[in-house]
Amino acid sequence: MTGVREAFESMSWGPAPESPSPAVKWLDEHGRAFGHLIGGSFGPAGAATFPTINPATGEELARVTQGTGDEIDRAVSAARAAQPGWWALGGHGRARWLYALAREVQRNSRLLAVVESLDNGKPIRESRDLDIPLVARHFYHHAGWAELMETELAGHEPVGVIGQIIPWNFPLLMLAWKIAPALATGNTVVLKPAEFTPLTALLFADLANRVGLPPGVLNVVTGDGATGAALVGHPGVDKIAFTGSTDVGRIIRAATAGSGKKLSLELGGKSPFVVFEDADLDSVVEGVVDAIWFNQGQVCCAGSRILAQEGIAARLVEKLRARMETLRVGSPLDKAVDIGAIVAPVQLEKIQELVEQGKREGATCWQPSWSCPTEGLFYPPTLFTDVSPAATIAQVEIFGPVVVLMTFRTPAEAVEISNNTRYGLAASIWTENLNTALDVAPRIKAGTIWVNCTNLFDAASGFGGYRESGYGREGGREGLWEYVRAARSEERGARRNPSLGEDPAGVDGAGLRPEPHLPPPSSLLPPIDRTAKLYIGGRQVRPDSGYATPIRDPAGALAAEAPQGNRKDIRNAVEAAHAARSWASATAHTRAQVLYYLGENLAAREAEFAARLASLTGASPESAAGEVRAAIRRAFYYAAWADKYDGAVHATPFRNVTIAMNEPVGVLGLVAPVEAPLLGFLSLVLPAVAMGNTVVAVPSERWPLLATDLYQVLDTSDVPGGVINIVTGRRQELAMVLASHDDVDGVWFFGPRDEAAEVERLSTGNMKRTWAEWDRREWGDDHQGQGPEFLREATQVKNIWVPYGA
Ligand code: ADP
Repeated sequence: MTGVREAFESMSWGPAPESPSPAVKWLDEHGRAFGHLIGGSFGPAGAATFPTINPATGEELARVTQGTGDEIDRAVSAARAAQPGWWALGGHGRARWLYALAREVQRNSRLLAVVESLDNGKPIRESRDLDIPLVARHFYHHAGWAELMETELAGHEPVGVIGQIIPWNFPLLMLAWKIAPALATGNTVVLKPAEFTPLTALLFADLANRVGLPPGVLNVVTGDGATGAALVGHPGVDKIAFTGSTDVGRIIRAATAGSGKKLSLELGGKSPFVVFEDADLDSVVEGVVDAIWFNQGQVCCAGSRILAQEGIAARLVEKLRARMETLRVGSPLDKAVDIGAIVAPVQLEKIQELVEQGKREGATCWQPSWSCPTEGLFYPPTLFTDVSPAATIAQVEIFGPVVVLMTFRTPAEAVEISNNTRYGLAASIWTENLNTALDVAPRIKAGTIWVNCTNLFDAASGFGGYRESGYGREGGREGLWEYVRAARSEERGARRNPSLGEDPAGVDGAGLRPEPHLPPPSSLLPPIDRTAKLYIGGRQVRPDSGYATPIRDPAGALAAEAPQGNRKDIRNAVEAAHAARSWASATAHTRAQVLYYLGENLAAREAEFAARLASLTGASPESAAGEVRAAIRRAFYYAAWADKYDGAVHATPFRNVTIAMNEPVGVLGLVAPVEAPLLGFLSLVLPAVAMGNTVVAVPSERWPLLATDLYQVLDTSDVPGGVINIVTGRRQELAMVLASHDDVDGVWFFGPRDEAAEVERLSTGNMKRTWAEWDRREWGDDHQGQGPEFLREATQVKNIWVPYGA
């Protein structure tokens, strides 16, 4: 018999099983077969069902229905019918419902935790102490946003019906991240849970019915990827919010291209976990446990790449190996278990294959001396050393309890290896030196940075990716923008000029200048030999093609020739824009100064630009002068914003400052609208550069000369070479090159719908952000032509978590 002393010394724990009986009772009450929740009632299980399995035992828990296109259609109709009433309830009304949902989650927290652990395999300690409390917190927090929407999101309205597709790693938490902000802001929802883990979504739907949530506000349709695809493709859905793999994210981006649906994507990651030699190594070890052995490593932001500074790497490996020995893998319902079951056989096989590949590629594999339970889908904590940064296991998302360790020498090298990935979801930085932490944090390309901590989440802080980890944020004030539109959208739609059909901003610009042509005084006409060039890297250069396009005035006379830029010119411009990326670290004050100067220099040439506009476009002198004046004001407007578009410090409930920092997107491709050739062009360029982006801008194809006339203004305004690059030519051709260019981080496109669709489709290569619009804007209108919307599009939020105190 084991004595107390031996037990104490071995520190081995007895099992502490959580009872599954309340969960079993709930499953039995439903006959272990589920239909969908549509329009407030649960249908019977459908003709085609599939089992959902407990991965720890292989036992079938229940059968759920494979949602069909018809069922998606019914769910979308129910959501559509419910939406106006839900919005009309007002912020306070919706707040009360969200509050009721939060309370109901808390009242049923243990049942939800047990069902989650049964269905997904995660340890009950995690579902009970982390997933479910965060779910409740999310609903409480967003009850607050519903209450505050009227003042805090003034001038905005709900997007409408939201299609939401979630993965299996945090089934209920992802549901909360999706549903809470959508409902708070007046939208209604059709949610499809992952096929491996549908049960807590069904239980939540049951609870929502129990509290009496109005029918149709929340609809849950189960099924696999085909059901998800039907939801994505449904024309009645106004926005898709997706969390899952980058591959499926790419498919969804392509499928929604040109549909006008809003889209947010939270995709994969390969997050660095950077350990400097002054870090507290014992805390680091516990950090690694939380980073990669939490939820069996099936976490999109898992710290799966440890980068250790050379001096401490060996000691860290030793400590990690010792800690791995003490981790417990086993029944998820055992409260003393650290690591539960892998969600499904296919996932386990993928982990096993990648580990074998890691060994084949020459890395050293460390696993504990004990073995995992053989019944059920278990995998031991695994550490790889001697890994080269280019190895498969250092690049591919394994989504299992497998971490690789590499070394670095200097902070610069740590940043370089950190960013040596196509992803950008999260990073952890471990150092006792705050200077080092806050120096390195902004340089790592990731949406969340944890300093001396990891995998902390809260409803008050946005979460989401850079680069191929997706776009959009969930949580925080920044997450709300995904679920609202400016209230003017309908008004704008109504103003669309029907005679222009689908192509309101067609290349010929017909109908965009309604004033009768007033011939300008000939003294103001520019001489024909002013052949414009491209503007790349701060220099005027000839186009690669050697071709130019004649630009005619409204009377048909040749006004000048504009160079025809091509693929190669765009490539050069992108290179120049990259070379000028130090613009991002220029102070906001400096950027403001440059923009003021630009406005000042434009003002000095106001009459000349107005005359040029009038002569080229046939606008009345008054309207032309008005456009130039508006452009000057816009320069001042964005100069004003440059040092005022502050981030925030989020109130997360830890001893913590969570710094939400607005960062530039990077290199932006800007395709200007055909109309308002000066103002439309500057309305894109100014906010982009004000926020620290560098740009490759394609001016109006019909009237490019207003942009090429700006070269001297840029030269005299201290705009550093490469910050603003201008390539004239065929809009369609140049836009597509920008959209498919892997070194372009985002594209703004204002033009016809079919081209906008193509831009969105081509963006999937590196999952760049796109902002594509085909409705015409009134660029002279302060509400449409400028504003925080432009600044939001020009930035992405990075949340840096910095704990303090003991
Ligand atoms: P994971 O690798 O995390 O399983 P997936 O991206 O495969 O992630 O799945 C995440 C969610 O996306 C699941 O709910 C799945 O059913 C759904 N899904 C898979 N394929 C598609 C698709 N083509 N269109 C829409 N949803 C899909």
